[in-house]
Amino acid sequence: MTALVKLDDLRKYFDLGRGQRVHAVDGISLEIAEGETLGLVGESGSGKSTLGKALLGLHDKSAGTVYYGGQALPQRYKAADFQRLASRMQMIFQDPYSSLNPRMTVGEIIAEGLRGRKLSNSQKQQRVAEWLDRVGLSAGHASRYPHEFSGGQRQRIGIARALIMEPEFVVCDEPISALDVSVQAQVVNLLNNLKQSMGLTMLFIAHDLSMVRYISDRMAVMYLGALVEIGPASDVYFSPKHPYTQVLTASNPEPDPELEKQRASTTIQGEIPSPVNVPTGCRFAGRCPKVMPVCREVTPQLLPLVDEDRLVACHLYQPE
Ligand code: SF4
Repeated sequence: MTALVKLDDLRKYFDLGRGQRVHAVDGISLEIAEGETLGLVGESGSGKSTLGKALLGLHDKSAGTVYYGGQALPQRYKAADFQRLASRMQMIFQDPYSSLNPRMTVGEIIAEGLRGRKLSNSQKQQRVAEWLDRVGLSAGHASRYPHEFSGGQRQRIGIARALIMEPEFVVCDEPISALDVSVQAQVVNLLNNLKQSMGLTMLFIAHDLSMVRYISDRMAVMYLGALVEIGPASDVYFSPKHPYTQVLTASNPEPDPELEKQRASTTIQGEIPSPVNVPTGCRFAGRCPKVMPVCREVTPQLLPLVDEDRLVACHLYQPE
């Protein structure tokens, strides 16, 4: 597999003063192959969105390196870096309400990224019309304002704004979590179709594991700034190995209402600990139903289970 994106020990800390800092992303290494969709799951506060933003330069990196197409990207982006990389990497944001400027027309919003391109106004309008059509809206919507649209339609506008740049790689940061359940599948299907037609590589961040399994080739599970499990999406979803992934999948609602009624409800005990005071040893030890004495002393490493493509960070599977 050829890695388009590679993270090597990526870290993002936020200093709070008085020697305290939030370990939002705490040493993540992974690769995303060209054309692959990697799903990233975990509870709120696990650091998923911070990882996506640090990857794209929207946060400065505290340490570690992001490689794109084999080239190391800057630790801190300048305006020229954003311009240079905008046609290669884009982000689709979570909240279709706050991420669209209410004073701009939809046409202006979608065309914003084309400002630096040598295109006439009519060429830009034509590109906007094409993209409105590709995301299931119509050219006539270009003159309207974001408040005139539903949540699902606004997310389609956000998708058009990102993809009109014709990037190779897209970070989708919880693109469906602010939407009604009834429109979530439509937006995921749209993203999947655009991914296929454009040959995109994606990092798809979401809460809903069944949706992530549907759209992703591999699934990575993040807890308190660190990766705890990664592997083929269906294997991780149907046969989770890490105790955190096991409770996460067990507590994920079934999309089928009949199956959901029959399913024993499971919830994760306790709250995710503060990323300021990261516990010694396994970060999940305080909530883990299978905790052992070693878990509180030694940090488990992310190691292959049997195959190289299935990695788990848990003492239940560490070699003696
Ligand atoms: Fe649970 Fe120990 Fe595995 Fe952590 S290392 S997930 S505490 S069994």
